[in-house]
Amino acid sequence: MKKIDAHAHIGYIGGWADVGITEEGLIKQMNEYDIEKTVLCCEDNDLTLDVMKRHPGRITGCVYVNPLNPKTVDFMEEYFDKGLTGVKLNPLRHAYCADAEIIDPVMEKAKKRGVPVCIHSGHPPYSLPWQIGLLAERHPDVKIMMIHMGHGHGVYIDAALKMARKYSNIYLEMSGMPMPSKILEAYETVGKNRIMFGTDTPFHHPTVEMQKVITSGVDEEGLKKIFYDNANEFFGLDNK
Ligand SMILES: [Zn+2]
Repeated sequence: MKKIDAHAHIGYIGGWADVGITEEGLIKQMNEYDIEKTVLCCEDNDLTLDVMKRHPGRITGCVYVNPLNPKTVDFMEEYFDKGLTGVKLNPLRHAYCADAEIIDPVMEKAKKRGVPVCIHSGHPPYSLPWQIGLLAERHPDVKIMMIHMGHGHGVYIDAALKMARKYSNIYLEMSGMPMPSKILEAYETVGKNRIMFGTDTPFHHPTVEMQKVITSGVDEEGLKKIFYDNANEFFGLDNK
């Protein structure tokens, strides 16, 4: 079944993670696991653009923004003009809270351009689902993808589902989240179009992430939506 990977990186991520993948490695992996398109986010936005240009139709990307650095906010729209289709925020990486007002200018620009925002979830005190709920509440016109849908902690995963049920602009991405049953629960109780497949390459392997969706218990139509249609619609990839 063809797939869209809603969330992946290239390069080497050091420190505690000590993982990495090259551009060639990513494309090889995509071919091997029938991943038609990947939504890439690199801290170096020019690298994302270059990779996109080298693999037309296969790679699209998010503008990685640090709200604490106004320069990156100023440059956001230039990257939209060049073809990036979303915004990536990682409150854990840059040490700000997901419900902080400092993100508002980023959200306003995303709204103005009709671009969705992807935000890392699952790490206190910065990126808990309830905080992302408060952000979604303040910006009802911006589509927000909660990356990892709460991540590794059962209570946070439950909170991700609760927040997504409460705020219709929250969408969930399942990479790094260990419970297949929660994918089915999201599909049935959040919305058939609001849960999508991602790998978070190179942190996780496509085979493992794929198995979570396959064993979740969703039907054939659900597999098609989660693996492909939902990310296609969320990022507006049909003509990209
Ligand atoms: Zn990631």
